[in-house]
Amino acid sequence: MKDYPHLLAPLDLGFTTLKNRVLMGSMHTGLEETGDWGRVAAFYGERAAGGVGLIVTGGMAPNREGGVFPGAAGLFTDTDIANHRRVTDTVHENGGKIAMQILHAGRYAYGPDCVAPSPVKSPISPFPPKELDEAGIEKQIADIATAAARAQQAGYDGVEVMGSEGYFLNQFLVTHTNKRTDRWGGSYENRMRLPIEVVRRVREAVGPDFIVIYRLSMIDLIPNGSTWDEVVTLAKEIEQAGATIINTGIGWHEARIPTIATSVPRRAFTWVTQKLMGKVSIPIITSNRINTPQVAEDVLAQGCADMVSMARPFLADADFVAKASAGRADEIAPCIACNQACLDHTFSGKLTTCLVNPRACHETELTYAPTGTPKRVAVVGAGPAGMMTAIVAAERGHAVTLFEKADALGGQLNLAKQVPGKEEFFGLVDWFATMVGRAGVETRLGAVATPDDLADFDEVVIATGVRPRDPQIPGQDGDNTLSYIDVLRGAPVGDKVAVVGAGGIGFDVAQFLSHEHDDAPEALADWKAFWGVSDPAQDRGGLNPAGPAPERPARQVTLLQRKPEKLGKRLGKTTGWIHRAELKMLNVAMKAGVNYENIAEQGLQVSHGAARENPEWIAADTIVLCAGQEPERSLADALITQGRNVHVIGGADVAAELDAKRAINQGARLAAML
Ligand code: NAP
Ligand code: SF4
Repeated sequence: MKDYPHLLAPLDLGFTTLKNRVLMGSMHTGLEETGDWGRVAAFYGERAAGGVGLIVTGGMAPNREGGVFPGAAGLFTDTDIANHRRVTDTVHENGGKIAMQILHAGRYAYGPDCVAPSPVKSPISPFPPKELDEAGIEKQIADIATAAARAQQAGYDGVEVMGSEGYFLNQFLVTHTNKRTDRWGGSYENRMRLPIEVVRRVREAVGPDFIVIYRLSMIDLIPNGSTWDEVVTLAKEIEQAGATIINTGIGWHEARIPTIATSVPRRAFTWVTQKLMGKVSIPIITSNRINTPQVAEDVLAQGCADMVSMARPFLADADFVAKASAGRADEIAPCIACNQACLDHTFSGKLTTCLVNPRACHETELTYAPTGTPKRVAVVGAGPAGMMTAIVAAERGHAVTLFEKADALGGQLNLAKQVPGKEEFFGLVDWFATMVGRAGVETRLGAVATPDDLADFDEVVIATGVRPRDPQIPGQDGDNTLSYIDVLRGAPVGDKVAVVGAGGIGFDVAQFLSHEHDDAPEALADWKAFWGVSDPAQDRGGLNPAGPAPERPARQVTLLQRKPEKLGKRLGKTTGWIHRAELKMLNVAMKAGVNYENIAEQGLQVSHGAARENPEWIAADTIVLCAGQEPERSLADALITQGRNVHVIGGADVAAELDAKRAINQGARLAAML
């Protein structure tokens, strides 16, 4: 009996069978735009070899006006077919199946040629769209159908028509973006005409034996979004029009409710998909914040869907399904939903990769080949940089000893996991510990490594991390002043708190102190109430008309920084807005452009601006210092003074802007070279 009987059961589609219920959801990686299609093929080929049932590619534009940005990859000429053929051949050689997503961005396209049902500018693009006339609409339909036919010629097993997340087809469905008065607007029958016509024409173009997935927005999370009746009506029509499978879309990109960030509870939206079960007779896929085989299995066993889509988990681990099937689920590198190396990269114009797996999208360039010259390798420090180095070096065949002065592996990750909404870090630390053990690393916990301890090793890697920066505020030595480390380890904190420093850790500490935290992750009902998510059967788009209902903050927190700029401006591109919104809802006061003058019993005294004007006291029982970090290099410096050759990585190398992404990447790349 397999561990995950529902997840690993095949899905018979009549003309073809998927080997399990796992779909690798569509992600834009940026690989196609490099023009190196060998690299694209390697990326998907590894995922196919890892056993996933069906892969969906990143969105491919059906024409130039529909591209997410000018130059976005697509399949709009016959000459593109050969490139795509390299991908499909590689996937098939590795035993997989792959569908191409056809993505028309409509008004979300970041370019001057964008088109839409009506000239309603989107809040996430500066370009007002052109309203399509009848001929323009026909052209879009024809281009999408032609792209599907080309995908079939290129060897894909199917296509996914992107009808959700607020893209082109979705824009026709709701009055928020469709103000037309012709046969494509007005009544719901008219508004859903385009998606139905698209699916009908796609089916006509590809014939019966080709997978056509329609991604349908089940909860728009925007004002004037679809009602549940409309969702069900559309799903039935899409089935009639010839779709093979319906996939779930959650929230428009312009929605002000997080849908995939780490603070969103696991499987937070499977209840929406479940409402559609039984309403159509084709299989239904659910998605969003499903990242372990057990969660996916539970979702299927409870009848929430016929299949589960996971996207980012396949960046974190290409072998997700193979490991689950082989009883090695604890070896699956977990996606912690941080967005730091995937979506944040995409939105900064960088190639996608993964914080946990730096090989993602770098398959051809970063390889962990077995070593021909095994060495004795010492790694000092068991934070993310040190653990990653130790694992990769040991897997390559080196004899690795990992020294850690604390009595547990994890380093700063053990602090991060204490923050409400960052519970996924528990799984990450567990995974690292599992892999350190499986790789055969000799671990010495509670061991402060000295230069003598390291004398007999061929290679010494210093990953001793960081220590908190001392902001040197007069009066900070009193009992009312704590470091973020004390706070996250559970030191008592008063009711009024001033937080010095508003970087990632200052924000985390403000969040931690504003919640009445217990050890249980936030319940889904609390999370929905906090953000104002309701049932689309009650409220259009699933938005509670009463708005968000945040809990009462546990403390009165003031967050401060010296820079005269908006607090949180430098947080992650796709998650910074969430942190800022959460703290606002928790009534955290924010002050920028301050100088720290003094700490005394009544709190923290600050002045303002370069001239240190308008001094004021911030009343606080506790002052928490989150003023950044300095490299902890004392061991590295001692060894270098002795003339030893050492590798210094992670925070010990450069503390500024340190995060686990850089630490893990640096560790992996060093270990690949040892
Ligand atoms: P940080 O991001 O460098 O922020 C340090 C804060 O301290 C800044 O607000 C800085 O602002 C202030 N500061 C710097 N020198 C100071 C001084 N001498 N006196 C008083 N204030 C001073 O560092 P962090 O918050 O410790 O975070 C460390 C790293 O962990 C970050 O780079 C981040 O990547 C990572 N992290 C990320 C997240 C996330 O959500 N993605 C969460 C936690 C941690 P002013 O100089 O303007 O005062
Ligand atoms: Fe998941 Fe973070 Fe990796 Fe993105 S970078 S795939 S969110 S772990």
